[in-house]
Amino acid sequence: MWRVAMALEGYKQKRHFDTTPEPRPRLGKAHRRPLFVVQEHHASRLHYDFRLEADGVLKSWAVPKQPSLNPALKRLAVQVEDHPLEYANFSGEIPAGQYGAGLVHIWDKGTYENLLARKPRPQSIAEGINAGHLEVHLHGRKLKGNFALIRMAKRGPKASWLLIKMQDAVARPDPVAAESTTTASTPQPVRSRPAVPHARAASRPPSTLTFTHQDKVMFPEVGINKGEVLRFYERIAPRLLPHLRDRPMTVERFPEGLTGTEAPHFWQKNIPAYYPAWIPRATLPSEDGQLVTYALVNDTATLLYLVNQNTLTFHPWLSRIQHLDQPDFVIFDLDPGAATFADAVVVAKQLHAILGLFAMFEASTSH
Ligand code: MN
Repeated sequence: MWRVAMALEGYKQKRHFDTTPEPRPRLGKAHRRPLFVVQEHHASRLHYDFRLEADGVLKSWAVPKQPSLNPALKRLAVQVEDHPLEYANFSGEIPAGQYGAGLVHIWDKGTYENLLARKPRPQSIAEGINAGHLEVHLHGRKLKGNFALIRMAKRGPKASWLLIKMQDAVARPDPVAAESTTTASTPQPVRSRPAVPHARAASRPPSTLTFTHQDKVMFPEVGINKGEVLRFYERIAPRLLPHLRDRPMTVERFPEGLTGTEAPHFWQKNIPAYYPAWIPRATLPSEDGQLVTYALVNDTATLLYLVNQNTLTFHPWLSRIQHLDQPDFVIFDLDPGAATFADAVVVAKQLHAILGLFAMFEASTSH
């Protein structure tokens, strides 16, 4: 009880309960199916208050633009103070001069499921908020299906998050249709993205591959999910594979996607024992004499198998297994650090010019 009262201290401080009709800062009794509510709030600026029941209160975000079923429309969501559970029923007018003065009405309401509770390492809503990553399944009249909330920057009050519709059967990819729901209550055609085409058979690999959790958000800042990453790699495979062929591969895997700078990730050289036999591989001694079995990304199926395992970066050797001691290319790794990507581009162009001079010099002296 004391903990919940403390959670509502910020709410209490901002309001005068003899003047505002808003509910008093009381703890609520948890519902068997937790509630979500979105309140359209005509304050000095119209916004939508997105709230999720957790730990006896409503975890709350102010969303300046109307939430959408279009995965491409990522909504800024500014975290605000916890509200009492009773607030889920509140509509009415907050009087002039009071905090948040203006009309409030319930835009959408329903129950939700915490999708993080089903993960291999289950997380509560509070844990997800602390980690800056929530995934919920909403059962509303307007908002349905899976949504992700991803924190972009600092923690705590006024932290900026993104509210993103995840790809699923109720997602509406058409931006025109989704934007028009601002005024329309007419049902929009429900369209789902085509499934990722199965990898085509190479010589040895299987004719089909099973891809899992395609709606998992891998690049939260731009709302790109794993299905889209898989489709990207499938599309570029004909250009990429000639460069990767026969090069022992180290991969960097991000089980939760690129969720901020602290996203869990790990490097994998030695391929796990459970990898299917059709994945090409090469066993080589490491510097300390241990044998390491590397994957060789020689076909589309292997490439997509690794992407399906949440690989976001591929780090091939600079030589191929036929001539391991003869690397055939050089990498200049421009790590911007505190600089910008534009700075890195300038450095890259200058480096290119310098290498061009070397090449001219080589050409003029090699005859
Ligand atoms: Mn508000």
